[in-house]
Amino acid sequence: MAEIKLSEMRDLTRIERIGAHSHIRGLGLDSSLEARSVSEGMVGQTQARKSAGIILQMIKEGKIAGRAVLLAGQPGTGKTAIAMGMAKSLGDSTPFASISASEIFSLEMSKTEALMQAFRRAIGVRIKEETEIIEGEVVEVSIDRPAAAGAASKSGKLTLKTTEMETVYDLGVKMIEALGKEKVQSGDVIAIDKASGKITKLGRSFARSRDYDAMGPQTKFVQCPDGELQKRKEVVHIVTLHEIDVINSRTQGFLALFTGDTGEIRAEVREQIDTKVAEWREEGKAEIIPGVLFIDEVHMLDIECFSFLNRALENEMAPILVVATNRGITTIRGTNYKSPHGIPIDLLDRLLIITTQPFSEDEIRKILDIRCQEEGVDMSEEAMVLLTKIGVETTLRYAINLITGAALACQKRKGKIVEMEDISRVYQLFLDVKRSTQYLMEYQSQYMFSEVPTGEGDED
Ligand code: ATP
Repeated sequence: MAEIKLSEMRDLTRIERIGAHSHIRGLGLDSSLEARSVSEGMVGQTQARKSAGIILQMIKEGKIAGRAVLLAGQPGTGKTAIAMGMAKSLGDSTPFASISASEIFSLEMSKTEALMQAFRRAIGVRIKEETEIIEGEVVEVSIDRPAAAGAASKSGKLTLKTTEMETVYDLGVKMIEALGKEKVQSGDVIAIDKASGKITKLGRSFARSRDYDAMGPQTKFVQCPDGELQKRKEVVHIVTLHEIDVINSRTQGFLALFTGDTGEIRAEVREQIDTKVAEWREEGKAEIIPGVLFIDEVHMLDIECFSFLNRALENEMAPILVVATNRGITTIRGTNYKSPHGIPIDLLDRLLIITTQPFSEDEIRKILDIRCQEEGVDMSEEAMVLLTKIGVETTLRYAINLITGAALACQKRKGKIVEMEDISRVYQLFLDVKRSTQYLMEYQSQYMFSEVPTGEGDED
């Protein structure tokens, strides 16, 4: 008995970890960006997936910055799924930040600050760090390290690690360029005056400590490596601008990244960081990777937020903004005006609009099949037909939700495969929207506040 309980518990934990979109592994496109009918967990919605694929291609090629895309369609038609598919296809090196518009209304920070943080979470900084120097015998001694220079005196050669961003490879290239026709051979020692950039070939016999000492303090010595000059090895870190902001703005530093307690970040801190990053970019040490910011339920933003978005998109580092909504013509939050999707016309005009269509019966069945696999649920053919029918009559989401319940009902009766009876059991236990509304209408009089006939309150 105890054993059964344990296994039940284990299964539950597993189910909890399966998210609504965990079956989505990409956009399911082929190499020519055509949507495969079922691929990477994606079913149907070919037009929308293809459009998203084109946007993705542009993002990867770095062709667009500050563009915005609107995914518009009825509830449950896969807008969030497409955004997830985009995130998965972009891979780990391109940042993808995702929020629901209602998340930005908090007491801790202003809504524009919350949006700014979301934006900066979607901008990556690729920092290049050069590590190991090239293979072969390399000498690089700087005069302000006499001990190291002394160590060279015996053998006349010294192998050191490059400590500065400039690698021996860069220096080697510089030498060859500077010396022009003169041949630089492996083992030759070159002196580079860091201040003037002047390069002198000193020959092979130079590598002795007193010779080093004789040169000025800003001189750098390099001995050409034996063999071919090889490419430097690079270590690349990708951090987001938001992470840099947080690390530099709070006393608890990077720990705030884990607790999420970042608080408001001062504009001066951001300015300093932007200036520093711009410097790194100029020096070739860093690269900006505009990622994707996904804002679901975008109609929940208000007019101030929309105006913030309009401006933020004009920044040269702006990420691609993907917003989604299931609303038709509705009031723009914070105003009395109505507009399509509750988005002001000026912002709407900037958006590339992708629409999603309701699924066919066959597509619903395929999605349900995929979800069963994802949740590790075996279902009989008849049960699947019934579930698909429920999906068509109610909504895809409702049918997806029934899978877990039906699997538990099956487990309860010690069955191995979910049958029609399990589906009908959970169908009776949990109402879908239509039945729930119908029920409310029938029993309206028994609910609180329903007893006051409309209009009566106005007379007071
Ligand atoms: P809403 O407007 O209510 O936010 P939505 O359009 O964002 O809805 P989703 O949440 O993306 O809808 O989809 C509902 C469910 O169906 C999710 O579990 C999702 O993963 C799945 N789904 C949607 N579209 C597809 C698809 N094309 N292929 C496979 N699964 C899908």
